[in-house]
Amino acid sequence: MRYDIIQMSEVSPRAVKEIRRLACALFSGKGESREKTIQDVVALVSQHINMISDPRRLAAAIAVFFDAAFACLKSAEEDKRCELHDFFIILNHLPVLENSPFYAQTLEILSRYFRKAPSLIKLFDRLQLLFLYAEIGNITAAQKLADQLETEVNENQISFYTLYQICRFRVFNAIQDVHTKIEILLRLTTKIHDTQGGDCALFLMGRWLGAMDVLKQSPFYKALLSNLYQDIKPRQNLNSAIVGYELFSLDDKLMSPDDKMSLYDDLMEHKESILNSQQLHSLHFFAGNYISGRNENFRDSIQSFKSSNYFLHKCWERLIGISKYLRMHSNPADYKVSVGYLDKLYLELSHQTSMRNNSYVENLQANFDKIEDLYREVGELSLRDALTGLRNRRYMENNLNQIVALAFRQKAPVSFSMIDIDFFKRVNDDYGHAAGDYILQELSKKLSTTFRKSDIIIRYGGEEFLVVLFDINPKTCLKMMEDLRQEVQDHVYQYQRFKIKITISIGLSCESLDGKADCCNLDGFIQKADTALYLAKDSGRNKVVLYQKPENPA
Ligand code: GH3
Ligand code: MG
Ligand code: MG
Repeated sequence: MRYDIIQMSEVSPRAVKEIRRLACALFSGKGESREKTIQDVVALVSQHINMISDPRRLAAAIAVFFDAAFACLKSAEEDKRCELHDFFIILNHLPVLENSPFYAQTLEILSRYFRKAPSLIKLFDRLQLLFLYAEIGNITAAQKLADQLETEVNENQISFYTLYQICRFRVFNAIQDVHTKIEILLRLTTKIHDTQGGDCALFLMGRWLGAMDVLKQSPFYKALLSNLYQDIKPRQNLNSAIVGYELFSLDDKLMSPDDKMSLYDDLMEHKESILNSQQLHSLHFFAGNYISGRNENFRDSIQSFKSSNYFLHKCWERLIGISKYLRMHSNPADYKVSVGYLDKLYLELSHQTSMRNNSYVENLQANFDKIEDLYREVGELSLRDALTGLRNRRYMENNLNQIVALAFRQKAPVSFSMIDIDFFKRVNDDYGHAAGDYILQELSKKLSTTFRKSDIIIRYGGEEFLVVLFDINPKTCLKMMEDLRQEVQDHVYQYQRFKIKITISIGLSCESLDGKADCCNLDGFIQKADTALYLAKDSGRNKVVLYQKPENPA
């Protein structure tokens, strides 16, 4: 979906026209007319800044400007001219120390200059120092160094020149000198546009947009990024990675976790070296949480957390690298000041680490709980019959002995009822196996609701059920079974278009050992119930028979 920024902005058509004209003139004009456009933009911004009391309007006008500028820049074919592109990637990883994975790459890119003039290595080191001052927020040191470097940097060394101007931009951004900041940025961007092409200019404009506090986390910011992202996504280059990551970093209110996950997938298609450790760490951390929470894919989530940890570790290394670098290259006074800023970064990172560790542990715990539940479920399932949900014979063999013995120890009588459906084969033959299954399920429900929760109902065989009742005398038990038999006989089972009636036969044995749990002979009790059941069948079915001790022939 594309956002209509102009519609959203509610800026007057006249103002929109003027803003768009200026944005396009920036990237089409040359020389004096270009400089005039830059001054016009600065004037327009000052005018708007006076309306700061209405930050929404200011944000709207800025959004219209970026929308137009992006349209000019991205409409150009992807530009392969850009020598700066690789250098911009390096900027994301500064400082480049000897043990850094980007060291070789950096040297290779810089060697174009170094070969011509070895003294440039020294210049690069000082520029890197400048960049670090700006990054950690030591603006005083950055300003001082920028002034010293002014005469040493020249426009023909485009990488160094760009790095230098970016640092200046950051300095003036920090001290809130809007005019100078915009002038620096527009001169740099238009120059880069002319010599390096649209992609590099787009990168700079994107970074500028990212530094706009009035826009950040506003719907305009999301709209601008989304439109841009849709157009440049297939390029899979530095710009698409940075814009994708910015979208990903938006507040959850602006960007749903599902959308973030799809951005994560896109970003993982990019070359890994494009994003820095901090960015990769956040991405993998998010994915770890998302995958374990939404997809419940344990293995993949662990992999993401592992990557996240790895890059968190890299963030620490980078911070240590910065500290080392500053100690090596800045004078003691400047280093002392920088340490204060570094401390802040250290604290932030360690705070983040502990937060993330907590969340990681919580996740592990949640997954562990899930696994435990699964274990329990699997355990339960293997003790239950799949068709009816009743206890199965495995349950009986594992548990029934102890339960019955316990009842006897408490001097509670226990009764065993063997229930068998009469002529069940005929149900299958007449109505089909599925109808038979249905009857078995319905009868099982009936049994479950008839007896107490503490009673035990087991599917003993195909259409045979064993019901074990506790603390019940033979008379009551006989009555209950008789009622059950009657109710089953009266019930009509409706299966599809069939009305089916069944009857059951029940054999009953009632036992009480008066505390002599040792004599508990489960097989014997069940055998007796079975014998009674056969008597019921033999004497015409649809009957309840209580087992009687055979008369002593003697
Ligand atoms: P009786 O009155 O003597 O018990 O006769 P009956 O037909 O019920 O006895 P028999 O033991 O000969 O047959 C039991 C039938 O129960 C055989 C089998 O097809 C059926 N049966 C067993 N388990 C299932 C099941 O899970 N689903 C279905 N649909 N039928 C089953
Ligand atoms: Mg039967
Ligand atoms: Mg049977």
